[in-house]
Amino acid sequence: MSTFSLAVHGGAGTILRENLTPELEAGYHAGLRAALDAGHKVLSSGGSALDAVTAAVCVLEDEPLFNAGRGAVFTSDDKQEMDAAVMDGARRAAGAVGGIFGPRNPIRAARAVMERTDHVMLIGPNALEVARATDLPFGDPDYFFTQTRWDALQSTLKMRAEGIEDNDPARRHGTVGAVACDMQGTVAAATSTGGMTAKLPGRIGDTPMIGAGTFADNATCAVSATGHGEVFIRFTAAAEIAARMRHAGQTLEDAAAQVVMHDLAQNDGSGGVIAVDAGGNITMPFNCEGMYRGRVTESGAFETFIYR
Ligand code: ASP
Repeated sequence: MSTFSLAVHGGAGTILRENLTPELEAGYHAGLRAALDAGHKVLSSGGSALDAVTAAVCVLEDEPLFNAGRGAVFTSDDKQEMDAAVMDGARRAAGAVGGIFGPRNPIRAARAVMERTDHVMLIGPNALEVARATDLPFGDPDYFFTQTRWDALQSTLKMRAEGIEDNDPARRHGTVGAVACDMQGTVAAATSTGGMTAKLPGRIGDTPMIGAGTFADNATCAVSATGHGEVFIRFTAAAEIAARMRHAGQTLEDAAAQVVMHDLAQNDGSGGVIAVDAGGNITMPFNCEGMYRGRVTESGAFETFIYR
């Protein structure tokens, strides 16, 4: 029997400190805590890491404060297109969806791809077909809409038209994710996102790409990433952490720090990761101002954080 642990994140695109009201701060902590509760419930009753990360991410997708599911950001043509992926470290089984709109919980659509098809990733209408065949609940545009994300799109488009660089990460991106190690020593990762505000229609980020934004393998670790997706893809961020552990014998903490603080940070790859290994160790490095994050271990100590 192994010791279980769980970490969650609500994105590295945190709100600037000066814009954080006490109400918002409480809301972010409560959202992270609710996700930890959902995952912890699964793990403490002997459930699988895969079920725990799915449950935790569903809670974060349902919370409009985070950029995934309800509250996802808008594309440059006023739509919402969501990406998600899940991976089970016991078998290296994985499922992902890209650019979808409809299922309230894109992570469950990703899991349906993993469990009900022979493929790893589906996009567009065919991904939705699998979600429908699985009886997943769908939402209409009103369900997913939030005024904050809509306003963020308008200001981003305005700044773009005026050639002004957007310095507010909370306006630009965000993502949610979870990693867990269960009592059997199996690890799993799940990540879900609306992507980046004002992205081009059809743009897919790192989140659903196995080895970039999501990865899990019992021999090394499970990783869920958040940040500037294009850079995470080019540096195969999650797989690189696992590769450092596998080939260079690095610890989880050293491997993740190297990738986040060096590879990504030095190449315009602002963001961070949460990661866990099969011994239940957790690390949560980020190279920007903050990352909504939290963790709980078998000891039952729940912790949530926003900034350093
Ligand atoms: N990585 C996400 C994407 O590029 C965004 C984020 O995590 O902030 O789609």
